[in-house]
Amino acid sequence: MTLFERVFGGNDAVYGLTEAAIDNAIAQYGEGQAVSFPDTAYSLPCYYAVTGVKVNTLGELKAALGVVKTLMTRNNRLNDAFMSGVATALCAEFLEVLKYLNGATPYEQPCYGHISDAFVRNLGVPLVTGDIPGVAVILGSAPSADEAVELVKAYQSQGILVTLIGGVIDQLQEKGYKTGDAVRVVPLGMDVTAVIHVVSIALRAALIFGNVTPGDAANLMKYTMERIPAFVNAFKPLDDVIVACGAGAIALGFPVVTNETENIYRVPKSLIVQEDVSKFNATSLEARDIKIKITKIDIPVSFASAFEGEVIRRGDMQVEVDGSRVDCFELVSTKEPAEIEDHKIIVDGPELDEIPVGSKISLSYIVEVAGKAMQPDFESVMERKFHSYINCVEGVMHTGQRDMIRIRISKACYEAGFRFKHIGEVLYAKIKSEFEAVVDKCQVKIVVDAEKNKDLRAYANEVFAKRDDRLRSMTDESVPVYYTCTLCQAFSPSHVCIVTPERLGLCGAVSWLDAKATNELDPQGPCQIVPKTRCIDENLGRYEDVDEAVNKYSHGALEHVTLYSLFQDPMTSCGCFECICGVEPVSMGVVITCREHAGMTPLGMTFSEMASMTGGGVQTPGFMGHGKQFISSKKFLKAEGGLGRIVWMPKELKDMVRERLDAAAKDLYDVDNFTDMIADETVCTEDPEQLLNYLSEVGHPVLSMEPFDM
Ligand code: SF4
Ligand code: ZN
Repeated sequence: MTLFERVFGGNDAVYGLTEAAIDNAIAQYGEGQAVSFPDTAYSLPCYYAVTGVKVNTLGELKAALGVVKTLMTRNNRLNDAFMSGVATALCAEFLEVLKYLNGATPYEQPCYGHISDAFVRNLGVPLVTGDIPGVAVILGSAPSADEAVELVKAYQSQGILVTLIGGVIDQLQEKGYKTGDAVRVVPLGMDVTAVIHVVSIALRAALIFGNVTPGDAANLMKYTMERIPAFVNAFKPLDDVIVACGAGAIALGFPVVTNETENIYRVPKSLIVQEDVSKFNATSLEARDIKIKITKIDIPVSFASAFEGEVIRRGDMQVEVDGSRVDCFELVSTKEPAEIEDHKIIVDGPELDEIPVGSKISLSYIVEVAGKAMQPDFESVMERKFHSYINCVEGVMHTGQRDMIRIRISKACYEAGFRFKHIGEVLYAKIKSEFEAVVDKCQVKIVVDAEKNKDLRAYANEVFAKRDDRLRSMTDESVPVYYTCTLCQAFSPSHVCIVTPERLGLCGAVSWLDAKATNELDPQGPCQIVPKTRCIDENLGRYEDVDEAVNKYSHGALEHVTLYSLFQDPMTSCGCFECICGVEPVSMGVVITCREHAGMTPLGMTFSEMASMTGGGVQTPGFMGHGKQFISSKKFLKAEGGLGRIVWMPKELKDMVRERLDAAAKDLYDVDNFTDMIADETVCTEDPEQLLNYLSEVGHPVLSMEPFDM
C-alpha cells in the first residue's frame, strides 16, 4: 500500500465514524442541541481556526462535516494527503466534542481531555522565554513501561511539555509515575482522537498570540510551523488512522518520529524512522530544531522547569522551612569583590541529616554578589527568581518570598543525597549563568540557627523596607526613561509592551526594574530604552518617543500608543495578560476579570471570551490586557478618569489588590474602602441593571464621572 492509500484509508474510516456519531447524536438530542468544548471562547477551536466558522449546534456540526468532506480530495498528490490529514484531525475534534454533549464530563483522572483557554494563555510566557522549549506529543505504547518512563523523564528534565495519548498513559500509571500539568506531563486520553486536544492548543495559540484570522488556513499552518515547537513520537504499530493523523501533524509543521518500519515512507525532517526508542528524544529535538539551554548544577537530583509546579505533601516531606512560624528569609546583597569568595557555600548550623524527620526549621540564605556592573536595583530582580530556581529542583517546593518563604524538601530528595548546601549550589549556578553580565563573584551563606536568624531577619527587613521606599518613590515622572519589552514577539510578531514604573508588562512578570536589568544584561535584547523627552499629552501618556519606539519595534505595524488610555490608541495585547478590562456601557464603568476566574462577567462574557476580543498585537479600543498590579496604579485608565472607573472584578482579584487599590483611591478621590464599592460575582454576574443598582447603593465614584468619549 502506498502512503497515500494509508492516509486516505485512515481518513475515510474516521470520516465514516464521525458521520455515524453525529447522526446518532442528532437522533437522540435533535439538531438544535448545543455543542461546544467547555472553557473556551472558540467552541470547536480547530474547526474554527481552519474555517472561521463557530459551530454551535448539532445541526451545524453536521453541516461542518460537509465542509470537512471538501478537504478530502483524492488526487494522490502530497497536498491531498496533508489536507486529508487535516480533515482527519477535524473529524477527531467532532468525535471528541460529542463526548461533552449535554454537559457530560467524559474525562477523569489522570486524563485531561479538552484543555481550557486559560491553560493555553498560561503557556505564553514560558514558551517565549524558552522555559518550555518544546511540546512533545507521545502516542501509543512504548516497547516497555520502563522505556516509556525514560522517554517522558528525558523530555521533562529538559522542560518540554509532554502530552500523552493511548497506551503510554497506562505504562506510566503502572510505574507510579507522577503526571499532571504541575509537572508538565499531561495525559490527554486513551483514544487516538484525543490527540486533537494538543492540536487545539497549537491552533488556539495562533489565534490568541498570533492574531491569525480564523479561516486563514494558510497563515494558520505557517504560524504553527514557524512558531509552535511541537513534534510527535508515535510508537508502532501504526494503524491507518494514526498515519492519517500524522499527515495532519506534518501539515502543521510538526515532525513525526516513529519506530515503525513497515509500510512507512521516510520524509526528511517530517516523517522520521528511529528504531531505537532511546534516541527518540535526541532525534525529535534535532528534527524540530530545539536547542536546550543547560546550566550545569552540581546536585544529586534533577533540575528542570518541569518540576516548578511540583507539590510536596506533608507526609512526603523530610523537613520544612516555615517562614510563617519561625524566622526565615532570602536575600541578595551587593558586596565589594574583596569581601567575598566566588563559589563559596557556607552552611552555618546543622546539615539536613542532623535534623529529625518532619521538623519545621528556621533557615535563611543570603546570596552575596559583586561585580563592576552590579547595581543594588538588581538585587530584588535576582531575589524574585529564587522562587523559580529552587522550585526547579526535583523534590523541593518553594513558595513565598522575602521573610515569608516556605520550603519543603521531600524524603525522596533527601534520600537521593540532597542537602542544604545544594540550595547554595543551585542559587550560585543560576545567578552566575543568568546574571553573568553583572555578577563576577557570588557566594552563598545558609544559616540554620533560630537565634542567629532572628537578628538576621530583622536586618533583612530593614533592607526590604528601604527597597519598598525606593519603589514607592518611583513614578513614571521620576525616571528618565521607559523600556520596551518584545519578548512575546516570538508568538505575537507585532506586539510591544512599553514598561514604566507605574505600568508593568501585561504578563505581570516584567516590572520597570526587571526591564532595566534585562537591558543591562542583554543590550541588544528585548528590553530597549525608550527616552521620554517629547511628551505630547501628559494625561493620555502620549509621547513622540513612545510612538517612535512602538513603530520601530512593531516593524511598522503600530503608529501610536498611549500609556494611560483605554480608548485612544491603547497599548496592544499579546495574549498572556493576567487581566483584561472592558467597557461596561450601562454604568459607563470598566469591568476587569482575570485568568483564574472562569465565571461570567456583567459584560456577558467570560475571561476567555473577553480575551478573545483582543490579542495578537492589535489595538482594540475598549478592551485592554494588563497586569494585576497596574489596577492599583494612579495611571490606570488615567485618561478616562482613573481607577474610579472600575465597577466589577472577581472577588479573588479584589482581595489581591485591595490594600493598594484602597490607598490609591483615597488619594485620588478621597473615598474610603473603594474596593468594597466594586461589585463582584457575589453581587451580580450577568445583569448590568443589578450592577447599576449596587453602584448607586454604595455611592460609587463612577456615577459622578462624565460619560465616556467613545
Ligand atoms: Fe510579553 Fe509584555 Fe510580558 Fe514582555 S512584558 S514578556 S512582551 S507580556
Ligand atoms: Zn505575551
